[in-house]
Amino acid sequence: MRRIVIFCIALSFQLLTQAASANEQSPKSLNESHALNASTPSETVNEEGTTFSSNRHRNAVLNSDFDKSTVATDTPEVAFTLLGQDILRGSFERLYWTAGQAIAGLAMPTPILVAAGNKPGPTLCLTAAVHGDELNGVEAIRRVMFSLESDKLNGVVIGVPIVNMHGFRRTSRYLPDRRDLNRYFPGDPKGSSAGRIAHSFFNEVITHCDRLIDIHTGSFHRTNLTQLRGNLGKESVMQFSKMFHDVTVLDGAGAPGTLRRAAVDAGIPAVTLEAGEPLRLQLKEVIQSVNGIKAVMYHMGMIGSKPSRAPNQNVFYKSTWLRADQSGVFLTEAKLGQRVKKGDILGTVTDPITNRSSVIRSNVDGQIIGLALNQMVMPGFAAYHVGIATDQKKVAADKMADNVVAEALEPVAENMKEVAREAAQTAAKTSDDPATVAAAARKAVKDATQNATQLVDKPKAEKLNNERTDDTPPEQGSAESPESISQPRPNDELEEHPE
Ligand SMILES: [Zn+2]
Repeated sequence: MRRIVIFCIALSFQLLTQAASANEQSPKSLNESHALNASTPSETVNEEGTTFSSNRHRNAVLNSDFDKSTVATDTPEVAFTLLGQDILRGSFERLYWTAGQAIAGLAMPTPILVAAGNKPGPTLCLTAAVHGDELNGVEAIRRVMFSLESDKLNGVVIGVPIVNMHGFRRTSRYLPDRRDLNRYFPGDPKGSSAGRIAHSFFNEVITHCDRLIDIHTGSFHRTNLTQLRGNLGKESVMQFSKMFHDVTVLDGAGAPGTLRRAAVDAGIPAVTLEAGEPLRLQLKEVIQSVNGIKAVMYHMGMIGSKPSRAPNQNVFYKSTWLRADQSGVFLTEAKLGQRVKKGDILGTVTDPITNRSSVIRSNVDGQIIGLALNQMVMPGFAAYHVGIATDQKKVAADKMADNVVAEALEPVAENMKEVAREAAQTAAKTSDDPATVAAAARKAVKDATQNATQLVDKPKAEKLNNERTDDTPPEQGSAESPESISQPRPNDELEEHPE
């Protein structure tokens, strides 16, 4: 068994390496990357040129399972256009995305695999290695993409096995400037380097998706039980999460800037699929991920083959981290996925010099969904991520109701803000007294609430769009300032926002 696993891992790497070298060496691939470079916004000058025009309608069939004969040769139907290229029904394409940041000729094109079925249907997007050291998703996407058959697929699957190519090449979670790409979506065309990369990827690729699965792993010597993370308060995300069979689900909106949160904000139901450890290729997690994705495709009506396993999801609306209280050697007794009771001993930490030892106990009933690998730890080190058992149906209903209220109040709050601002500004013209200004705003709000229709019906203020309108540099220590990234604090980040 062990030998088979090692063989598969070796084979996967070999395939990856071969794919990478094929991209770099074959003349056809060079043409492809030129064609795609021409389609990136940064180099639109080239798009008008004649050099690459012959490639605009090429149909590079890379997958032998995709039956070329089924593609109509006269007027092949265009499924949609991606990165400046028409995607024909029944075709399998390898496109390239570049963020347009590199010196000419030094761009690192990111392969985008596109499988378009013969028949129309939804577009499902699969992304992995947004953190460059997270490999399980790379292999899961390869397995899904190269198992598809054009005559058995409705719609389109877009697979991006390695989003953060810079990090992947350096075996690093981060971008070259130590920024975490998964905190910058949907990006900012005028922002930091990470913001611009995120903006380009989000607009060029993600906006074409009807649904998105972003695959991750645990980070920094921790492993995750294969689990979905999604904002279950959103009806569309809740429904999406139910399509995965046999996968634990953890509720949460996601940290600001995560790809899935930005996608959901843009109206694209999205989840993160967490599977295993970084820096490793783990067959069990890869297979679970593939099975989950295939189940989703079945429920989206994209493929006909039914999932082999029945739905069996543990849904957690709350989770907690259990931490070490002393430094030393951490050894776990509990296993990933294990059910635990309050008071159970999960592991020990022992000082190698004094031999003083302490235990880490669970303080809740639940299931271990994330686990640190055995290692040296310090006090406060987060060792176990435990999903807390709750009355699922009740919490789900409450959550859904809360979200409906939040959505209903959002425009009201914005309109109320407008009303209050107007009154405050008027008052500020004639008075320097903060109390007077505040009183004017308060009165305006009170008046407006007495006529609630005014708040509900008033059109949204124009300034609601997310574009930054001023050129004020970010404050020191804010998320975007270089100071805040000069000393990355990975532990803080992963405990609060582990994706
Ligand atoms: Zn990740």
